[in-house]
Amino acid sequence: MECNICKKEYASLSKVPLGKLCNVWACDECLRIIEKLKKQSTMEKVEFRVLRFEDSRSSQSELEIGGVYTGEIDKNRVYFTDQAGDNWTFYLNDTCELV
Ligand SMILES: [Zn+2]
Repeated sequence: MECNICKKEYASLSKVPLGKLCNVWACDECLRIIEKLKKQSTMEKVEFRVLRFEDSRSSQSELEIGGVYTGEIDKNRVYFTDQAGDNWTFYLNDTCELV
């Protein structure tokens, strides 16, 4: 398999979500860089409660209505990636509320 980032061949790669319908395959080295960049994200972490879903959930998703999760807030939006690797955007006082 070819790493989508460094274009080198590897026996196994990790799936990295870049949006709900878009994934890239990355080697361990590129994955580490991605994780590092994610940690440097300046967005503030918040606890939020899910009020409703605008999209269907994957069967692997841990998200539930009424569930409390930690996401990243930017203005009126809360970003969250579930265990299925799907990226979600919740809107404050619409699809989610702060805890
Ligand atoms: Zn790579």
